[in-house]
Amino acid sequence: MQEILLATRNTHKTREIQEILRDLDLKILNLDDVGQFPEVVEDGHSFEENAIKKAMTIAKASGIISMADDSGLVVDCLDGRPGVYSARFAGPEATDEENNDRLLMLMDGVEPESRQARFVCCIAVCTPEGKCEVVKGSCEGHISMQASGSGGFGYDPLFFPEHFVQSFAELSPEDKNAISHRGQALKQVRDLLLQLNKQA
Ligand code: IMP
Repeated sequence: MQEILLATRNTHKTREIQEILRDLDLKILNLDDVGQFPEVVEDGHSFEENAIKKAMTIAKASGIISMADDSGLVVDCLDGRPGVYSARFAGPEATDEENNDRLLMLMDGVEPESRQARFVCCIAVCTPEGKCEVVKGSCEGHISMQASGSGGFGYDPLFFPEHFVQSFAELSPEDKNAISHRGQALKQVRDLLLQLNKQA
């Protein structure tokens, strides 16, 4: 069976990606399954840049087709922040709760109609030979005044997708995946992986 290596140690992301691509004839591994690799510094100025850097570095180091997701939350009234800094918005080792608290603090006093935001996800798929493809998905919504729900991860308790009365953290994994930025990007990745699988 063709193996694909996810350039991440994030178990939430890994589970979501494995779930969305579970019908493909692929063995989806992450960095914890394959041992020691150099940490990739995410110092790009865009989701695309970071995703390509991660996937390319790991594909070359491992010799396995690699896939990297760089994602984050883009809030209009904060000029696009936290953006590529989503994971470390409240500091280098910040917890999800600390990041959420910082976001709510910065948005204190912002009226409901001005709280538009979107999750963005870029996924790069790179071969050890250096061929690389990138896709992008996004999900529109707004940031609530307070956290609700206990599912998901990251900013899920604060993000209400458009047309929904539940936060991402209140939706089932299937419902979140059907509309999420990662789900949208992975739909495009599916065709890409099938092609690579045929060529392998
Ligand atoms: P990355 O590992 O650099 O891509 O960081 C992504 C960060 O963006 C995560 O640590 C979360 O804070 C946030 N994020 C990305 N996708 C999601 C999601 O589906 N739900 C909630 N937060 C997310």
